[in-house]
Amino acid sequence: MPAVLLLAGVSLVAGTAVANEAAEAARTYREQHEAAILAEFRDFLSLPNVATDTAAMDRNAAWLTRRLGEAGFDTEVWRGGGAPYVFAEKNFAGATKTVLIYAHFDGQPVDVANWASPPWQPTLRPGALDGGGDVVDWDNATRFDPQWRVYARSAGDDKAPVVALLAALAGLEAAGIAPSVNIKLILDGEEEIGSPTLAAVLAEHGSALETDLLLFCDGPMHQSRMRQLVFGVRGSMTVDLTTYGAIRPLHSGHYGNWSPNPTDALIHLLAAMKDDEGNITVPGYMDEVRPISSAERAAIAAMPRIDDVLREELALGRVEGGGKRIEELVLQPGIIVKGFQAGGVGPQSRNVIQSSATASLNLRLVADQDPATVRQVLEGFFRDQGFHVVLEDPEPEVLRSHERVLKADWRPGAYPAFRTRLDSPEAARVIAVLDSIDDQPTLLTPTMGGSLPIYLFEAAIDAPIILLPVANHDNNQHGRDENLRLQNLWDAIEVYAAVLAGYGRPGSP
Ligand SMILES: [Zn+2]
Repeated sequence: MPAVLLLAGVSLVAGTAVANEAAEAARTYREQHEAAILAEFRDFLSLPNVATDTAAMDRNAAWLTRRLGEAGFDTEVWRGGGAPYVFAEKNFAGATKTVLIYAHFDGQPVDVANWASPPWQPTLRPGALDGGGDVVDWDNATRFDPQWRVYARSAGDDKAPVVALLAALAGLEAAGIAPSVNIKLILDGEEEIGSPTLAAVLAEHGSALETDLLLFCDGPMHQSRMRQLVFGVRGSMTVDLTTYGAIRPLHSGHYGNWSPNPTDALIHLLAAMKDDEGNITVPGYMDEVRPISSAERAAIAAMPRIDDVLREELALGRVEGGGKRIEELVLQPGIIVKGFQAGGVGPQSRNVIQSSATASLNLRLVADQDPATVRQVLEGFFRDQGFHVVLEDPEPEVLRSHERVLKADWRPGAYPAFRTRLDSPEAARVIAVLDSIDDQPTLLTPTMGGSLPIYLFEAAIDAPIILLPVANHDNNQHGRDENLRLQNLWDAIEVYAAVLAGYGRPGSP
């Protein structure tokens, strides 16, 4: 027994030593080729990439097909009826594992007038604030400050991974270090509109994605800029709730105190769903929620605390959760009132009782909550609160024959959360590889608060899924002046090189 342990220990050192060597080789290569790496990034970012513009997305797919082909990948463009997906694969002699990498190459629509420079005219600027300051003369630059940022749509979200991966492979090749894994890429051309045809694409091509690990390379890194792995995302649902009064607006003086006000009814209902600390008080709502594991608690405790800095920055006099950290609170489901419509205010206010009031609710789900069950529990709760629940606009007869009527309009696009163990053997392997890059520990985040439809991959492939974000947290993703800090691109190259060289080395943990 001790001999086996000893052997495992020795092998672990060997695997991580190669990962460390690979990261250093990637750094050396990058230092010698910064202008060329950035030129490639600039070229890719120059292609407009709004997912609904299929012709534009085809040009992006063609760019990827050409560049990945030049780097020795076999590529295919997959279609499910919308924007293209690009699949690419490259095998290496001696590889012992396969790693599948997800990234997306579409970006959010832009309001060009708000940008400091045009979104598809990548621009290098020295800073982060006010559009980044004076434009750097990119064409004639010979050295690149790592704090400079590339400003362009999708610089941070999510065109960097492919460029970093290609640079990492070139760096390994230059140093004569063989990747220890075969690489597959699944590049999504419609993530920003919710990947509407991903399910169809996976149904047709899912078998090609067989892998030992899926690295989901999207999303911003931790505010501390420390290296980070994320092990889950929340799910998301939207429901619009409408309450009803008289079928026409009534004079608030003549009929106030007599005709029920739908605004009051909706406020009372919403107030009954949560307490002042944000805890959901709907009976049964929390029954399915997966408890926080001891490994997850330990990982959260090891993260730098950001609550106070955020509170200061956001001018918040208090936060919810009764003292729990934000990393723990996003492991709980959330019910967020994201809009409320019930008559006007200020100059638009009129002395009437409205006929209806509507609130739009975003439900953030966590692991093991089934959207269908959530819906059932909520509709049961509405009935317990005295409402007759309908799914479409009620006829006057329905309003006459029930004391309280509530319309629940469940919006399309609901999907569940995803969360994987952070103490699995596969996770241990990735963590060991990343930790070998330098003496900085890797932050382990049990879940991010936001949502991605990772559950589709969970159903399609039989392998652990871990998120590996590379973009700076302040990248302005989805907004104007989106950017990527050069150091984040440089770090991504080293991270990928370490994973490619170390993950499949025989005897990694
Ligand atoms: Zn993204």
